[in-house]
Amino acid sequence: MDVSNIITTPVILSAIPVFFLFIFAEIIAVRYFNQRGSLHAKDDSVSIFMGLFSVLTNGAAAFLTLGMLVWAQQFQIYALPLTWTTLIACFVVDDLRYYLHHRIAHRCRWPWAMHIIHHSSQRISFAVALRQGWTKHFTGTTILKVPLVLIGFDPLMVIFCGALNAVYQFFLHTDTVEKLPRWVEAVFNTPSHHRVHHGKNPQYLDANYAGTLIIWDRLFGTFVAEDPSDRPRYGLVKDFETFNPFRIFIHEYWGILKDIVRPQLSLRQRLLYVVAPPGWSHDGSRQSSRDIKRAAGLLDAPPNATHPAE
Ligand SMILES: [Zn+2]
Ligand SMILES: [Zn+2]
Repeated sequence: MDVSNIITTPVILSAIPVFFLFIFAEIIAVRYFNQRGSLHAKDDSVSIFMGLFSVLTNGAAAFLTLGMLVWAQQFQIYALPLTWTTLIACFVVDDLRYYLHHRIAHRCRWPWAMHIIHHSSQRISFAVALRQGWTKHFTGTTILKVPLVLIGFDPLMVIFCGALNAVYQFFLHTDTVEKLPRWVEAVFNTPSHHRVHHGKNPQYLDANYAGTLIIWDRLFGTFVAEDPSDRPRYGLVKDFETFNPFRIFIHEYWGILKDIVRPQLSLRQRLLYVVAPPGWSHDGSRQSSRDIKRAAGLLDAPPNATHPAE
């Protein structure tokens, strides 16, 4: 076990009983108290299995990110002391880092191949929160943690804040909690905001990338409020029709592989099948989220739109 696991494992392990308590409470609330939400034992079981599996694989590969951050520490401009103030500052800056990672993960197919797993359920529930990618340390976006170390935060503090943020996000995944008090909805990510993020309705695509603080979406123009008259329909614009966790795990990586070996493509086109936004295709035969929004009249057509997907 490497040092980053010594930091993150207690956070995750101490959270697991709380996670199960909330999953259980949500089922009781929906089943016996008529609260809003959906019950699906198979879907929830798949999510829980995938959560446990991804804790193991991500834990085993965490040394890659920690190694990079410890290496970067020698170039640190200043070593900030370990205090409550620096911990809070680190959490806020790391939350901005999470926003950027999450936005990239939706707009670039390589990290999307990891993150698509989280969006593969057609429901939302606390159990669905556990449906996580198993290749988190291979997306390339972990490099976004390096600037935090360079400006003075300890690598272990950066990793701890990331784990804490992941725990907070668990509580966003429910249909049972309606809107929270206005000041909370204004500053923090909430179940209502995150339901929008999981929605495949055109107006909800590419919105609410926040981890803990919704202020980043408000600041960078990606915030969309949940419309009570148009509830989110959950899932992917092209849904998986499987409950096999291993098929879900490899789905998009397999798709990338099939695309890059297609005959008669230029090198640039093969590269774009890896890094272009999901839904990009060399012949415009697929739809990206922007194409879907444009078709729904939510975006202006590009000035020279002869090839819609490029
Ligand atoms: Zn997402
Ligand atoms: Zn989510």
